[in-house]
Amino acid sequence: MAGTGERTQGTVHVIGGGPVGLFLAALLQSVPGQRVRVYEKRPEYTRTRMVMLAPYLLASTIESYRADTIDGQDVEAIFDRVELETRLAYRRTVASDLRTLVDEWTQGFVPLNTIERGLRELIQSRDGGDVEFVRADLAADAALDLAEPDDVIVDCTGTHAVLRDVLAVGDEPGTRGANTWLLNLEHALTITFLYDAPFECDEFCKYYKNLENTGYKFIPSVKRTSYDGDVTHVTGIVSISRTEFEAMPPRFNGTWLRENFPRIATSMDGFINRMQQQSPGNVVGDLEVTRIPLDVYHAWNTTSRGWHGSGLDHALARTPVFLLGDSAIGSPYFQSITLGFECAFHLAGHLANTQLPLGAVFDRYETFMNQQWLRVYMRSQMIKHNKDLLQVVDDTNGLLSQLHIY
Ligand SMILES: Cc1cc2nc3c(=O)[nH]c(=O)nc-3n(C[C@H](O)[C@H](O)[C@H](O)COP(=O)(O)OP(=O)(O)OC[C@H]3O[C@@H](n4cnc5c(N)ncnc54)[C@H](O)[C@@H]3O)c2cc1C
Repeated sequence: MAGTGERTQGTVHVIGGGPVGLFLAALLQSVPGQRVRVYEKRPEYTRTRMVMLAPYLLASTIESYRADTIDGQDVEAIFDRVELETRLAYRRTVASDLRTLVDEWTQGFVPLNTIERGLRELIQSRDGGDVEFVRADLAADAALDLAEPDDVIVDCTGTHAVLRDVLAVGDEPGTRGANTWLLNLEHALTITFLYDAPFECDEFCKYYKNLENTGYKFIPSVKRTSYDGDVTHVTGIVSISRTEFEAMPPRFNGTWLRENFPRIATSMDGFINRMQQQSPGNVVGDLEVTRIPLDVYHAWNTTSRGWHGSGLDHALARTPVFLLGDSAIGSPYFQSITLGFECAFHLAGHLANTQLPLGAVFDRYETFMNQQWLRVYMRSQMIKHNKDLLQVVDDTNGLLSQLHIY
């Protein structure tokens, strides 16, 4: 790949075949002549947790793209309108089979491994394109060794990205700088259950269904799944302390919760009782509980731009590397896969455009990822702040102490 001028199309090595790596591979599969290799360490897709994708992923107009009430104005403030039009125009060119899948997934909650399997099966069922799947658990050096001249590496290995912390060039020649900034917003339980009746929960519901819960408010994000007939899939979060987090196993059920943290279980019972008064029905099966730190983080460098032109004799100075998905930016509150897919659209479009010099691809991707970071950081802080206010909404002094008025 030349530093300036038109680029020669080499292989794109996608390290990590989670949802975002697979989505990028599916996009690149439609680019004539593009070879793609996806390296995945897991033998099969077993993650069944329900995830949600934002409908604006397939927006066709700027108005529908910024329809999300929580950050519609931020979108307008951060992204140039002409650039946004170009990005939305690219989305309209996405293959119809892939659009159909994403459209289905934006209707409600969907198991994570349905997305992973759906993408992999789509790629394998298509006639055209050159995508190969390789089973491998790659460390940073091994990943960099894959690249021949003109190849590109995209690190999609998630939160513990293999290449994130090698991308920043340090102050001393040949040394590495710090490349990750992380903020823990809170610790939480993600609690999921099925309910055999329709149930909707807006912001009033989030308050009134938690009315008697002085602590451990359960904040649901409710959508009726499109596949389960009359079954509503309810997923929500309960804030917990770090000490409580550390005393819990990574995953457990309602029975374990009741025995070990009865106050949280009582709070859930209260929520479900009030839910039953609104829409009579029953919980199907047990609660599924996962403890998670709700972190927001990003990589200062999302490409190997700093190494290029550094004059250093290092694989990173020769091979373009891009971070994508959770390896580049991590965000809580059910938004990460949408963010990863958004960034995949951008990267796929730029890798496909071989007229664009590498320097321009680096610059545009870094700028775009900074904008996405700004958007998701502001959005996450806003959600966290609103959650904090909800905790104290009946306590005037508590409420005032949370407000920072000019
Ligand atoms: C409880 C919970 C609920 C969530 N709910 C939502 C939600 O509703 N909506 C949402 O958008 N997000 C949600 N998320 C976050 C979402 O699951 C992640 O953001 C998403 O999976 C990130 O996708 P990714 O492809 O970037 O990374 P990952 O899903 O982490 O995939 C990385 C892939 O790389 C592979 N890999 C890692 N290292 C290597 C290596 N060295 N060599 C080869 N392969 C490797 C892994 O096996 C994996 O397949 C939730 C997360 C949790 C924990």
